[in-house]
Amino acid sequence: MELTGIGVGRGIAAGPVKRMPEPLAEPTDIERTAEAEAEIAAAKVSLAAVGEWLRERGVKAGGEAKDVLDAQALMAGDPALAKDIAKRIEAGKTAERAVFDAFSSFQKMLEGMGGYMGERAADLADVAQRVIAHLRGVPAPGVPESDEPFILVAHDLAPADTALLDFTKVFALVTRDGGPTSHTAILARAKSIPAIVGVGAGAESLTDDTLVVVNAATSTVTAGVSRADVDAALVKRSEWLEASNAPITDGALKDGHKVPLLANLGSPKEAAGAIALGAEGVGLFRTELLYLNSKVVPTVEEQAAEYAAILAAAPQGPIVVRTIDAGSDKPVPFLLMPHEENPALGVRGFRLIQDHRDFIEDQLKSLEIARVQTGREVWVMAPMIATVQEAKQFADLARSLGGYKVGIMVETPSIAALIDQLAGIVDFVSVGTNDLSQYLFAADRMNANLGALSNHWQPGLIRTLARIADGANRGGFSVGVCGESASDPAFAVVLAGLGINSVSVSVSQVGAVRASLSALDLAKAKEVANAVLVATSPEEAKAAALDALSQL
Ligand code: PEP
Ligand code: MG
Repeated sequence: MELTGIGVGRGIAAGPVKRMPEPLAEPTDIERTAEAEAEIAAAKVSLAAVGEWLRERGVKAGGEAKDVLDAQALMAGDPALAKDIAKRIEAGKTAERAVFDAFSSFQKMLEGMGGYMGERAADLADVAQRVIAHLRGVPAPGVPESDEPFILVAHDLAPADTALLDFTKVFALVTRDGGPTSHTAILARAKSIPAIVGVGAGAESLTDDTLVVVNAATSTVTAGVSRADVDAALVKRSEWLEASNAPITDGALKDGHKVPLLANLGSPKEAAGAIALGAEGVGLFRTELLYLNSKVVPTVEEQAAEYAAILAAAPQGPIVVRTIDAGSDKPVPFLLMPHEENPALGVRGFRLIQDHRDFIEDQLKSLEIARVQTGREVWVMAPMIATVQEAKQFADLARSLGGYKVGIMVETPSIAALIDQLAGIVDFVSVGTNDLSQYLFAADRMNANLGALSNHWQPGLIRTLARIADGANRGGFSVGVCGESASDPAFAVVLAGLGINSVSVSVSQVGAVRASLSALDLAKAKEVANAVLVATSPEEAKAAALDALSQL
C-alpha cells in the first residue's frame, strides 16, 4: 500500500512504525464502585511501577536526562503524595481520579512556588499521565520507546513532544496533519531526516510494527514491505548521508559574491552542528521555543543566562535573535492569551506588546545583559510586524534598551508593500517566508489541504520577494530570508539572484545550500531569478530554476 503526502527534508528511510500514543483523557469524576483497599493497592502498584521504569530509563539515558528522570522517579515515590491519593480514594474517588486530583493539587502548589520548583510542575504532570496509563493498562503517552530505529507516526507533533525525540532512533516522521511549514516539517529539515506530512486519514492504517519505506523525494510512504526492501532502503540512506557532506567554505556565488550562510537555531544544543557545518552566524534564533513548556514567567536573570548560553555556543558571526513569537501554533503557557477565533490572525508576535509589554522589555534587557557579557554581535528583530508604526515602535524600544542592531521580520503582505519606508528606521529585515506565504495566500500553514499554496515556488511569493529585495536594497539596509524556503538549495540561488543578501537555513541544509550557491556566478543567478519571475505556476517556476541549474 502506498500513501502520499508532502515530502519534506531529503532522503529515504525505512523501518517499523511506532505510533505516538494519543494523550490520555482526564479520568471521569464518578463514584468509586471497587473496594477502597483494592483501589489503594492498585494505585501503589502503578506508582511503584512507574518509579521503577523512570529509574531504569534514567540509567539507560545517562547524563542530564538521568537527573531529570531520577527526579521524576522520586515524585512517583513521594510518600505524601501516596497518602493524599489514599485519602481521596477513601473519600470515594476512583484510583485514576484520585491520582489525577492529587498530582494536580501538588502541581498547583509547585507552580505557586515559582522559579525552579515551578518548572518542575510539568514533570509532575508527566508522571501523573504515566501512573494513570498504568492503572488503565494502556501505553503511556509521550514519545514511544524502542531499542531499534523506527519511523514515528503521529497526528502531528507539538514542539514539546519533539524535544524528547532521539534522532539516532527516529529515522523518519509521518504525520496525518500538517503542511510543509508545520513544526514537524521544520524539525525534519533541522534533523536532516525525511518526513511525509499531511498524509491524511490513510495515516491511521499505519499500525505499530508495520514495515514501511519513506521517501521524501517522491512524497510517499510504502507500507507492508519486506525486510529485504527495508534493508535496501537503508543502504540508500547511508549512501545519501555520505554524499551530503560538502567541503566547508563561506556562503558565496562562484564569482565570490558573498551570500552569508546562517543557521536557524531553536536551542544551544543545535549550535555545535551549525559550527561543524561552517555556518557563518545565526540568522534566526526562535526564543519562544525556550518557553513552550514554561508555566512560570522566566526572570531577567534566568533569561539572560539562557541567551548568554546561546550567544556563547553560536557559530562566529552575527546572531539574529527574535523576540517572542508566541500565539497561534506556538502557545507559551505563562503568557495567558484570551481565546481567539482566528489565532493566526490574532494577537501573536509583536502584537503581544498590547498585554505583555513587560515581557518583551525583559527579553530585550536580558539580551543586552547577555550581549555585553559574551561580547557577541547581536541583532534583534520582532516578528509579525504589519505597519511602519509598529516597526518604529519596536526599533525605538530596542534601541532604548540595548546596543544591538535592530530589525523586523517581513511576514505580512502589508509590510512587504512598505519596505522602502523602513529606511532610517531599521538596520535590517529578515523575510519569514513561512508566515509570509500563509498571509499572502490566505492559507493556514498548518492545513494539509492547502499545502500547494504554501509551496515557496508559487509565483505570487517569488514576485513579492523580488519587491522586498528591491525595496531594501534601495533603502540601503540588509535583507535576509530565514523562512524554510531558503533551505531549498535551488531556491537559495533564486533568492541570491533576486538581490537577497543572506540566507538562514536549517542546520542540516547548510552544506547543500553552500554547494548550490557556489555552482554559479551572480549574472547566472540573476538569469535563473528572471526565468522564475515569468513563470505562471509553481511547477513552471521550479522547472525553470532546475533547468537553468542543470545546464551548469
Ligand atoms: C517564518 O514565518 O518564515 C519564520 C521564519 O518564522 P516561524 O516559522 O517561526 O513562524
Ligand atoms: Mg513566522
